[in-house]
Amino acid sequence: MNKKTVTDIDVKGKKVLVRVDFNVPLSSKDPNDTNITVTDDTRIRAALPTLNYLLDHGAALILCSHLGRPKTAADRQYRMDPIAQRLSDLLGKPVQKLDEMIGAAVTAAVAAMQPGDVILLENTRFTAGETKNDPDLSAKLAALADVYVNDAFGSAHRAHASTEGVARALNGPAVAGFLMGKELAALGTAVTNPPHPYIAIMGGAKISDKIKLIENLLQKADKILIGGGMANTFLKAQGRELGSSLVELDALAEAARLLETAADRLILPIDVVVVPEFKADSPATIVNVDSIPADQMALDIGPKTLELFKAALTGAKLVIWNGPMGVFEMEPFAKGTNELAYVLATAVDTGAQVVIGGGDSAAAVKNAGLTDKMTHVSTGGGASLELLEGKQLPGIVALDDK
Ligand code: ADP
Ligand code: MG
Repeated sequence: MNKKTVTDIDVKGKKVLVRVDFNVPLSSKDPNDTNITVTDDTRIRAALPTLNYLLDHGAALILCSHLGRPKTAADRQYRMDPIAQRLSDLLGKPVQKLDEMIGAAVTAAVAAMQPGDVILLENTRFTAGETKNDPDLSAKLAALADVYVNDAFGSAHRAHASTEGVARALNGPAVAGFLMGKELAALGTAVTNPPHPYIAIMGGAKISDKIKLIENLLQKADKILIGGGMANTFLKAQGRELGSSLVELDALAEAARLLETAADRLILPIDVVVVPEFKADSPATIVNVDSIPADQMALDIGPKTLELFKAALTGAKLVIWNGPMGVFEMEPFAKGTNELAYVLATAVDTGAQVVIGGGDSAAAVKNAGLTDKMTHVSTGGGASLELLEGKQLPGIVALDDK
């Protein structure tokens, strides 16, 4: 995707508004708690390359992000103060936290900024116009800065004032940060010019959420391997007994249609792990997909399926994976997901590009300890899936083309 990034523009002496993703987990959700801390600063650290680059090149930084899902500013547990604290520690310099996103106090603080200064605005979602993409709010935000940088890929599928409106309203460059640039490079390849063989792997709970995604992948990929709960609906559509497995009856017709269009390019499990109850300690057996007992449910793919998938992946140049192969949150049903992650890590070593999209999929790869082995693990759950569906993301469209 042909978007300008921070390295394409001059930021020396400029005030740069950076939309970051500081939506981090906090120690408490109590609005009266005065000692809330950041419990996982991964997302703050992930923004550092862009922030340090801009500071090293003579910019003053005005940062903004949403945090949690506050209804109004009265949801004080979502104030940005603990984040300013942690960011200051990570940057090794003061971060001035303001109590508003726009207004006289913000304008005055910004007017006094020198190169190297860092301001963090209050939670964007405290201001009503944010999620409505209010033009007035966008204009006021834009008026604060000379340059806009969007490094919040995970919010790029939402047209909000801080992600879309401001990029259009600002009278100056609007570009991608390094994190955003990395996401666009990795996911953009899959959407625009994938190398072949290109194998997609889909799993997770439901197909109803992902029909558009499967359709779009079928246009681009050579094969789609299907596991997880999603596979159940396809197996059922082929007339199999699925017992008490998760099956989406509403999506059966759609599944049958996809099977027909894709012919031999959709690859389904041949064996599964079944249990009588949805419990980690329920006694598990491995059965062929033609022999699922009527009183049991499939919660993971089996070893023969893993071998089948492994064979289909041989020689792949690009692999996109979305959706766990089983109920990976319970250790006994995480095997298919973990072993697939391992197979993919090995594929990276032999020259394949492996890109992971989706929130639970990223968590599953992290759980398997293999995040660093993959070519790219997307930080944007919903945004990565919408991009792979072939949608234009408003926060990206609004940035300057190269
Ligand atoms: P992502 O967030 O990566 O897009 P999804 O949200 O679509 O992935 O799917 C993840 C969920 O799918 C997990 O919570 C997992 O437990 C569930 N899942 C996977 N396989 C099965 C299965 N066989 N039966 C029920 N749920 C499943
Ligand atoms: Mg999910």
